[in-house]
Amino acid sequence: MKILAIGRNYTEHIKELNNETPDAPVIFFKPDSALLVNNKPLYYPEFTRDLHYEVEIVLKICKHGRHIDPHFAHKYYNEIAVGIDFTARDIQQKAKEKGLPWTLAKGFDGSAPVSRFVSKEKFEDLANIHFSLTIDGKERQRGNTGMMIHSFDQIIAYISQFITLKKGDLIFTGTPEGVGPVQIGNTLEAYIENEKMLEVEIK
Ligand code: MG
Repeated sequence: MKILAIGRNYTEHIKELNNETPDAPVIFFKPDSALLVNNKPLYYPEFTRDLHYEVEIVLKICKHGRHIDPHFAHKYYNEIAVGIDFTARDIQQKAKEKGLPWTLAKGFDGSAPVSRFVSKEKFEDLANIHFSLTIDGKERQRGNTGMMIHSFDQIIAYISQFITLKKGDLIFTGTPEGVGPVQIGNTLEAYIENEKMLEVEIK
């Protein structure tokens, strides 16, 4: 199982980090050891002083595929979840300045908490799903999949031109604006529509 993620997929988030809007999707990996399930806590890593949350909708691939046509991409995932793309922003910033990969900033242990999955059939319109994140009960991020630059289907089609997708692979689909730091003791909760899906305590 592999975890793929797309960066810079929501315009307002691109602006808040002073990034350029990319011509093609920015794709990166997280290793399977980044996955955090069952609402387990995240221990604040020693190597960063600027740990950021990014709430994202996560797709689960249900079928082996490569060179997937965008029109058929919807057949390759059947469940969605909400996840947090934890980022060591200070390490990422250094990597960005030097043009180096984001692997350690994005792929450390526990950097990918993911909620339980729900069938995509539950949603009338996959391009109109609200999701949000609270910290200690206060809302910090609110997004809608209609605001994505690249849709779920476009992301799957794009990635599969380079990398074979396999059953069980996860794809983080990008974060809306409002990212920021967390501190030890914070409790993060992530929602799809108004349903609480995920809780992560920072220890
Ligand atoms: Mg992200």
